[in-house]
Amino acid sequence: MPPPAKTELTVQGIAASQGIAYGQIFVYIQSDVEVPSYQVEPEKRIDEVARFDRALLATRQQISKIKNEVEKNIGPEEALIFDAHLMVLEDQALIGETIREFENSGRNIETCFNQVSARYIKAFSEIDDEYLRERSGDIRDVAQRVLQNLLGQAENSLSRLADKRIVVANDISPSDSASIDRSAAIGLVTDSGSKTSHAVIVARSMKVPAVVGVRNLTKRAKNGDWAIVDGYDGVVILNPSESTLFRYGKIQEKKKSFEARLMEANRQAAVTLDGVAVSLMANIEKVDEVAQVKAYAAAGVGLYRTEYLFLNSSRVPTEQEQFLAYKAVADAVAPHPVIIRTLDLGGDKPMAGNPDLFPKENNPFMGFRAIRFCLEHQDIFKDQLRAILRASAHGKVRIMYPMISGNEELLRANAVLAECMTELKGKGVPFDENLEIGAMIEIPSAAVTADLLAKECAFFSIGTNDLIQYLLAIDRVNDRIAHLYEPTHPAVIRTLKHVVDEAHKQGVPVSVCGEMAGDPVFAPLLLGLGIDGLSMSPAWLPSVKYLVRAMKMSDARALAAEALTLSSPKEIYARCDAFYRARVTVD
Ligand code: PEP
Ligand code: MG
Repeated sequence: MPPPAKTELTVQGIAASQGIAYGQIFVYIQSDVEVPSYQVEPEKRIDEVARFDRALLATRQQISKIKNEVEKNIGPEEALIFDAHLMVLEDQALIGETIREFENSGRNIETCFNQVSARYIKAFSEIDDEYLRERSGDIRDVAQRVLQNLLGQAENSLSRLADKRIVVANDISPSDSASIDRSAAIGLVTDSGSKTSHAVIVARSMKVPAVVGVRNLTKRAKNGDWAIVDGYDGVVILNPSESTLFRYGKIQEKKKSFEARLMEANRQAAVTLDGVAVSLMANIEKVDEVAQVKAYAAAGVGLYRTEYLFLNSSRVPTEQEQFLAYKAVADAVAPHPVIIRTLDLGGDKPMAGNPDLFPKENNPFMGFRAIRFCLEHQDIFKDQLRAILRASAHGKVRIMYPMISGNEELLRANAVLAECMTELKGKGVPFDENLEIGAMIEIPSAAVTADLLAKECAFFSIGTNDLIQYLLAIDRVNDRIAHLYEPTHPAVIRTLKHVVDEAHKQGVPVSVCGEMAGDPVFAPLLLGLGIDGLSMSPAWLPSVKYLVRAMKMSDARALAAEALTLSSPKEIYARCDAFYRARVTVD
């Protein structure tokens, strides 16, 4: 590796995914393509049309390549979207109109193409037919790519990194993170964000070190700069010196031998020293992650975030496409269960290619999101429910609704589910008639009314990422207030205890599937509060299992009992940290 010649610079952010990465940086800035406008001299007009042809050809080649990669690495259903993109490029009306516009106006071809494609996007977005309306997103995606090629801009895409790279971005949207080149991204750093932003969840599932909230790093780092990403301490070191590299080499050695111990523990059962078995499950976003679920010996999938199937698509996946994805997961994980969460689109996860379904909102986290969206778009909801029900004939499938705020909403969702069951029965389509239905507890009103919800549910799963955000009024992706996002706030601990007690009174088990569950510092507190199971990014299972095997449940209960008497989040955190350190040493 070439020694970095520039001055070393250490910047502090928020540690978001453990591990240490060293490599070259790829700077990714999200932005729309800016199109210059100018007059083309008459003698250059033939060249201008040839330039347009070359850009169309380059775009076609890029999309075909991505399609093949997605098909190979993720799955055929996720690759379908690129067929729609290729069809846009074949559209003779769009291309012919651009050339006519050019011949009439003499303006440069990017200006003409930009104007014509904008007209098409607008026209399609106003069509009554839903399928055609959704084509506007495809045209938008392809148009951006054609414009980049016309302007000679490098494809600013995370899905095709040139080589192993640390990705440094101003922000990474869920749709960016869904398409990120998983084989080449070795670390992730963002200017904004907090520990529970979705980019971080994806980084953890990819098992790459991540640091977020490193303000303005995209302005200070350049493509090709060398850097260390320390996901343990939340530090990024640009252009590290030889001595820093040596120091980090030593740290990495220690961590590696600790990881070997973790993997050894991971082969054993998740049982505490005093003989209590703990259910440790995995969170997944994509079908291909089932390989990790198995590699890390999870006791099933505790949270399948199905919205990732929709995020990068300009159209809603069909019932059949969804069925294939859900069935693939259920088959692969059987005989263990898979909890399929219905769509949690909206909030910070709008459908990128479908802005019409998610109009801009002032306060999206409190807006048109998840079950609210599904109950209003029942056609989309029913397609998903039927797909899940059909998958339940293959493996052990459970359904879970996100963002339930109260009993009525849960009953409405169940009524839609009952309609789907009746339809399938009428057609003789098999499904598991006893499949369990659960609710996520992530809105304070649901936590407060846990006794009412427990009457209608077979299980609860607490989404601490959102529950903490709403309880403490701390935007979970805002780095300015990330220090106030405190999982050990007494309000959080008391709420968890209330939910567990009310659920257990009615024999309803409670698990946690927020990021808190995968943090070995918090896991004993959760288990001590009576939580029955933990679901986390697969890569975190070894750390949590190691701790479970090193602790007594009676000690975890004592920790939780003590935490409930304390008033300071920092003090409670310190007790949890001390509990962890007394049982786990990295050296
Ligand atoms: C949560 O809110 O804790 C959760 C698991 O859901 P998501 O992170 O997908 O919002
Ligand atoms: Mg949530």
